[in-house]
Amino acid sequence: MLAAIVGVNWGDEGKGRMVDLLSQDYDVVCRCQGGNNAGHTVVNDKGRFILNLLPSGILRDGAMNVMGTGMVIDIAHLCGEIDALEAKGVAVSPDNLKISDKAMICLPCHKLQDILEEDRLGDKKQGSTRRGIAPAYSDKYMRKGLRMGDLLDTDALAWKLSDFLAWKALTLKGYDSGGAAGADTGTAAGTAATATTDTDTDLSGIPGWVAHYGARLAPFVADTSEYLYEALGSGKDILFEAQLGALRDIDYGIYPYTTSSQTLAAYTPIGAGIPGAKLDLVIGVMKAYSSSVGGGPFVVEMFGEEAKALREAGAEYGAATGRPRRVGAFDVPASRYGARLQGVDQLALTKLDVLSYMEKIPVCVAYEIDGEQTENFPSVDKLFKAKPVFEYLEGFHTDISLCRKAEDLPGAAIRYVRYLERAVGCPIKYVSVGPGRDDYLLLQE
Ligand code: GDP
Repeated sequence: MLAAIVGVNWGDEGKGRMVDLLSQDYDVVCRCQGGNNAGHTVVNDKGRFILNLLPSGILRDGAMNVMGTGMVIDIAHLCGEIDALEAKGVAVSPDNLKISDKAMICLPCHKLQDILEEDRLGDKKQGSTRRGIAPAYSDKYMRKGLRMGDLLDTDALAWKLSDFLAWKALTLKGYDSGGAAGADTGTAAGTAATATTDTDTDLSGIPGWVAHYGARLAPFVADTSEYLYEALGSGKDILFEAQLGALRDIDYGIYPYTTSSQTLAAYTPIGAGIPGAKLDLVIGVMKAYSSSVGGGPFVVEMFGEEAKALREAGAEYGAATGRPRRVGAFDVPASRYGARLQGVDQLALTKLDVLSYMEKIPVCVAYEIDGEQTENFPSVDKLFKAKPVFEYLEGFHTDISLCRKAEDLPGAAIRYVRYLERAVGCPIKYVSVGPGRDDYLLLQE
């Protein structure tokens, strides 16, 4: 069985929580794209974890985890993430983690470039997490970047890195380095690992940084493509874990307010390392309301007290950045578009419990653009002009966090779920009513 868990909305739908729940049925869990710009929050019997780079299966005993070819990996951040897990008693070793030799390394200069560019954009900034993801992907497509496999050949690494840094210095020269305040461009875990400082564009620390963290991670680097083909051939069940959501996909999302990678299920076999494989199952994770981190159009956005109430009820603060998330009502045109892009077979509806406080629940069923209504998801320029058209459903005013069967849910809650199911056009199989592993109910076997 080859399955993918993907986001239907703007990200932060609770994919990590669903992977943690469902990974018990899989032998291998793979991340397929992105870097430490995302944060998956997982709460289970081992504790509460925020995973930025590691697949959420790392918390399951016996599961193999793969960081796939489509990822960009900040190796210092990854070492920190491994340390944080080990401090909570979760062992991470080549026995439960393999890193693709073809995945890109996200370097301190990528982070610096990201920060300098966001600062240059000023009011027009795109809401980057400032973690270097876009510059790292840009360098990949410029065919300039370093890959994890380069860590295994230190002689070749030395000349590749020196050539890369000479080229990168040309790019950074055009920026006023004074704008880089706040850049944490080299987490020093010892002098050998020190890269650049807060505000300078001196790249001389980077070889030491790469050597320091690279030495620690080299044992994890493998031809994960071969590993995955063999695993598939021997009948293993593999789960792909996508990062962010459909609406942030670089090609089909709200460009340029997207991430720099492909967030869609169709990409997951490529990003993981088995491009020729066909998915058997796509599980789309969709939140019972909307949230968005970063810039771009967000038609359903709530403001003031209304936003505050929903943000507090849903604890909507970025797992990777701590930024308050923009929040709003469930958006049918956006979610239907997202589910279609993902080719969803089954939906997992998360955070239904968060809506218990609402008297009536707003749902955006269409957009009004220049006086005309549409139920379709239009271009970004039109989205900026769109006004939401709401319907209001009856609230359920009850704590549903202990419901474990469909019959336990109050009528108004089940009506809301069925309404969303019809509106989006996909069956909802799972309803999540809390952050914990077992806080969910099944709507169908
Ligand atoms: P991801 O990036 O898609 O994995 O999502 P995040 O981890 O950024 O955001 C989901 C947040 O909601 C996390 O803090 C989860 O612990 C929490 N969460 C997930 N499902 C539920 C749910 O059904 N109810 C509540 N109250 N919290 C949930």
